[in-house]
Amino acid sequence: MLEEKCITHGEVLKLFCLDDFEVLCCVCHTSKKHQGHQVCPMEEGAQDLRAELKTDLIPLKKNLRRLYEAKQECDDTTVHIKVSINTQIHKEPA
Ligand SMILES: [Zn+2]
Ligand SMILES: [Zn+2]
Repeated sequence: MLEEKCITHGEVLKLFCLDDFEVLCCVCHTSKKHQGHQVCPMEEGAQDLRAELKTDLIPLKKNLRRLYEAKQECDDTTVHIKVSINTQIHKEPA
């Protein structure tokens, strides 16, 4: 098996950061950038990633709906702002 090496540290990439979905060497793992991140061996990470990609499709659809709702809300706010601007203009003395 071909072992890939870290560009930054020249160490073999053996780990996988679950928080960043990034491959790491043992030096990357100890760096501040990945402090407190969930890290597992690369082979396991690749399997997890595949599994997660499948399950991710469902929440993605939910997110799309939430995004649509957020847009609607935004439109409502825009209308509301327009109305209050109009009433303010009318309130101003001529
Ligand atoms: Zn590294
Ligand atoms: Zn990380």
